[in-house]
Amino acid sequence: MSTLEIEQIPTRSDNYVYLIKESGQGKVGVVDPSDAEPVIEALDRLGWTLTHIINTHHHNDHTGGNLELKEKYGCEIVGPLADHDRIAGIDIDVGDGDTYTFGDAVAKVYDTPGHTRGHIGYWFEESKALFCGDTLFALGCGRVFEGTFEQMWDSLGKLRALPDDTMVYCAHEYTQANAKFAVTIETDNQALIERAAEIDALRAENKRTVPSLLGLEKETNPFLRADVASVAEAVGLPNGSPVEVFGEIRTRKDNF
Ligand code: ZN
Ligand code: FE
Repeated sequence: MSTLEIEQIPTRSDNYVYLIKESGQGKVGVVDPSDAEPVIEALDRLGWTLTHIINTHHHNDHTGGNLELKEKYGCEIVGPLADHDRIAGIDIDVGDGDTYTFGDAVAKVYDTPGHTRGHIGYWFEESKALFCGDTLFALGCGRVFEGTFEQMWDSLGKLRALPDDTMVYCAHEYTQANAKFAVTIETDNQALIERAAEIDALRAENKRTVPSLLGLEKETNPFLRADVASVAEAVGLPNGSPVEVFGEIRTRKDNF
């Protein structure tokens, strides 16, 4: 077992790419490289050599750097079995319930369809680190492009079941916009109101709001709270199922 060193690289307008290093065998991975260049710069700065690319889903802002990095470093690409044909250069397929061994570190893999059909997440238990791509965001969740609300709610449920002290390494800095929306759903959620103010203060100084603590997401992220009675009431569906409430919240966000 080995805990990860994690380096966060902001790319494009709002993407986060992560370099992860385990000390046991010196493996170095990059999670969702949008582009090769900022990853190469960070590797050079740290003196690390890339051995793996780890993808959560096929979108270009998560895989755009795959082939150039593979060419340069001869690294292996790990990605979703369910989306094998849409992940450029994929070598290793992983899916729901798999254990992915990264040097001496171990990740549990979850299928998290909804944003895309083949989306997956990686939970490094010992490092308390969840790489969830565009499924769960700080105070938000990904748009449901390819799946159903039911799938997305189930996917979020798998991630919500992880321990409160898990750090959520999502793939975008969308938190401030998410917070502005979240407070329209839960107008009385004191933890949310405080968090939204903290996020405004951080963003005013151009500071990062990611990663976030999963325990705090459970208390404040409306997309993880569709089965809370007060949330169902707040969106006018007091007798609605969690999937119906989730769908209503997601639809409102799409139109916000
Ligand atoms: Zn995406
Ligand atoms: Fe994305």
